[in-house]
Amino acid sequence: MGIEVIETIAALRARLDELRAAGQSIGFVPTMGYLHKGHTSLMVRAAQDCDVAVGSIFVNPLQFAAGEDLSTYPRDLERDLALCEQAGVQVILAPSVEEMYPTPICTSVRVAELSEPMEGASRPHFFTGVATVVAKLFSIVGPCRAYFGEKDYQQLLVVRQMALDLSMPVEVVGCPIVREPDGLAMSSRNVYLSAEERAAAPVLLRALREGAALVAAGERDPQALRVRMSEIVMAEPLASLDYAEVVDAGTLQPLEAIAGEVRLLVAAGFGRARLLDNLGATAPQ
Ligand code: AMP
Repeated sequence: MGIEVIETIAALRARLDELRAAGQSIGFVPTMGYLHKGHTSLMVRAAQDCDVAVGSIFVNPLQFAAGEDLSTYPRDLERDLALCEQAGVQVILAPSVEEMYPTPICTSVRVAELSEPMEGASRPHFFTGVATVVAKLFSIVGPCRAYFGEKDYQQLLVVRQMALDLSMPVEVVGCPIVREPDGLAMSSRNVYLSAEERAAAPVLLRALREGAALVAAGERDPQALRVRMSEIVMAEPLASLDYAEVVDAGTLQPLEAIAGEVRLLVAAGFGRARLLDNLGATAPQ
């Protein structure tokens, strides 16, 4: 029996209601497609933890601003479906834009505080677009566990807070970042990189590792960390640094002094690709 590809909201709801009525638990993995091992790691995990793994493939226009890469975002549904099936996904929702947004959408979901720094500051429309589509997908899928990558660490926290605030019947599960052998975090947007940019991109993880090493060595000054990580990224001529931050791992708030669990996050442009990466670190007692 092959993977079941469903294009309408009503048909997916009916199918998942039927599965739940038969006592099956649902693991859900929302994606924008052009899948790689980062995505399939979430699918494998969902298939392990739950009776039925369900994925979605939808390039969500709400989270792109005018001038961003909505029209050129890479797509390959046939290849994606084969990868989903290999990862143990049984049902895929692949709706059209018209199916998801038959009329101009009037409702938006904004998660204050967590959405504001870093990605929220650089892309002010972004998290409202993400939270709105994820709220819609959670409403379509219904009670489930939903798997998100730490690759998009701020997004993971925003989605988890939204589900909590709105009492959604969804447990949000965070999963580790999957990387290329040289350390570059896998991303659908890595296809935008030229050979030279691709070779330069692991500088992001090098900067994060240096930051984490300073935390482990007892550095307490957040500004010293930001400066050191920025220097490393800026030393790479093909990288254009957006931010290098260290924040509280749970609240994403800036720190007066490094203590407890922190998260180091960087974003930089490489040609037309904007890449993100992050790493956790724990300050010594
Ligand atoms: P996207 O298709 O980029 O919207 O990503 C869909 C999901 O896959 C999100 O939860 C991402 O955080 C996750 N994801 C993307 N890249 C990776 C990666 N390299 N490792 C782990 N998860 C990832």
